[in-house]
Amino acid sequence: MARRTAYTKVKRLNFSNPDHVKGMGDKTFRGFQCLNKECKNLIFVQVERIDPDFEYICDKCGFEHKAGETTTLYNYELIDERDKSLIEAGSFQLLHDDYVGESKEYKYCIVCGALKPFELFDVHGSRQTGRQGECRLCKQVYNGIKNQTRLTEQHREASQKRRLYTHFEDREKMDVAIIYARFGNCCFKCGTDLSSDLTAGAAKKEGNLDHTLPVFYLWPLTTDSATLLCREHNGEKAEKWPGAYYTDAELRRLSALTGIEHRLMAGAPRFNPIALAKLRDAAFIESLFEKFARYPHELLRLRNRILAETGFDFLDINANISPEWRRRADEL
Ligand SMILES: [Zn+2]
Ligand SMILES: [Zn+2]
Ligand SMILES: [Zn+2]
Repeated sequence: MARRTAYTKVKRLNFSNPDHVKGMGDKTFRGFQCLNKECKNLIFVQVERIDPDFEYICDKCGFEHKAGETTTLYNYELIDERDKSLIEAGSFQLLHDDYVGESKEYKYCIVCGALKPFELFDVHGSRQTGRQGECRLCKQVYNGIKNQTRLTEQHREASQKRRLYTHFEDREKMDVAIIYARFGNCCFKCGTDLSSDLTAGAAKKEGNLDHTLPVFYLWPLTTDSATLLCREHNGEKAEKWPGAYYTDAELRRLSALTGIEHRLMAGAPRFNPIALAKLRDAAFIESLFEKFARYPHELLRLRNRILAETGFDFLDINANISPEWRRRADEL
């Protein structure tokens, strides 16, 4: 892609920041949750460094976080397990100095105006905070404009696509552990051991689950039907129909594991009939067009694909949908 960094300049036309952000791009805040458990307030205090004699008062509940003082969370008895005798009784306490001392550092982004943790800003040695004025996200968008490598449109398309397909899934609560166990914690395609995922965060685990029958054809991701794949093979399989990706032996094994008919997976791609049935509901169609009115491309493309493959046109179902949508879909 052409890069035009050298001779481009981004001229800002209608930019302004509210007063509480002006001049704050190089100021440090510490952010912590109010220690009063009944209070949900997040407290941000502007500091150079934490004053050893601090006194931060919650503006919601008045709780005082004072240096040198403690908050008791519970009382305890320490018991000798052997003879059940009491060794000592006391209270479980947090020292405010420790609690506030380990709080995160935040600062304002001078572009989006958001108060964000330091790690969301690139390092900048000569500034007080040691961080750049604008956050990474704003910098990324800015560079995209300046270098003509903007990703926003592609991102938006991908996001609209994900949003659209969720309307066809009655998403049950998935049991990730059951899926991993069914596949012996290994990638179905290459056998790579993925058991370390089980201790990782949920996002990582879900990242390795494949729909088996693609969401592109409106099939849901469920505990029963998901395939466990490593990141590489998940990326490779992507939206392919199983028959276009797996060998016949693999399809037979997968059918045994997921209960999906071998014939269905090995045959030509097919839309999920349950999802298609939803598209015969006029109110559902109307709600889709309402939700995707601003970015209707993915919805119109879906209409075209279903029409081409099944002869069913969901635009015929609801008489209230403007004929303009039909014209736009036909043009795609
Ligand atoms: Zn409070
Ligand atoms: Zn920003
Ligand atoms: Zn693999």
